[in-house]
Amino acid sequence: MDRLRRKQGLILLNTGNGKGKTTAAIGIAFRALGHGMRVGMLQFIKGKWRTGERRLGENTPNLTWLTMGRGFTWESEDPARDRAAAAAAWEVARQWLLGNDFDLVVLDEITYVVNYGFVPLEEVLTALKARREGLHVILTGRAAHPELIALADLVTEMRAVKHPYANGVRAQKGIEF
Ligand code: ATP
Ligand code: MG
Repeated sequence: MDRLRRKQGLILLNTGNGKGKTTAAIGIAFRALGHGMRVGMLQFIKGKWRTGERRLGENTPNLTWLTMGRGFTWESEDPARDRAAAAAAWEVARQWLLGNDFDLVVLDEITYVVNYGFVPLEEVLTALKARREGLHVILTGRAAHPELIALADLVTEMRAVKHPYANGVRAQKGIEF
């Protein structure tokens, strides 16, 4: 019973190949903002589109929206620059985790940073464990490392049942970006 009443900062992890990892994280961010909570969104990968959520996120009170990864894109051909960009983004993330600026921190697409070896897994695990007391964290990205899954309190795996991409439908504004 005691456990059910305990308040604590949670680590959520949205992974899997299906759509909805980032947008579900944004949904929770929206929910937290509605309670006046301070939210930090750090995107480790810069896609080719300036997304609708980023346009809004950069202009929303109580929300700090950073799309890092200067040059760290899905289509990059310069791993050295990607590594530097990811390391710089991670340094910001680490400060957000340890500091007192936010009530919820979203680390979007962080699984790739770990999987590509841009930031050592141990460093990420250590910072997550040492995070400010009460801070909620959401991690997103495909192929989450088993140790991230083990550390997280809440893990959801999005499974792709159907996606229009398979039928040659290109990404739609407002849905994909
Ligand atoms: P979203 O940002 O829409 O919540 P996501 O974060 O789950 O998606 P990512 O792995 O970050 O998905 O990939 C981003 C892009 O890939 C999005 O445009 C998304 O629609 C697309 N995508 C996601 N799942 C699939 C899939 N199963 N097949 C093809 N494209 C996909
Ligand atoms: Mg995503």
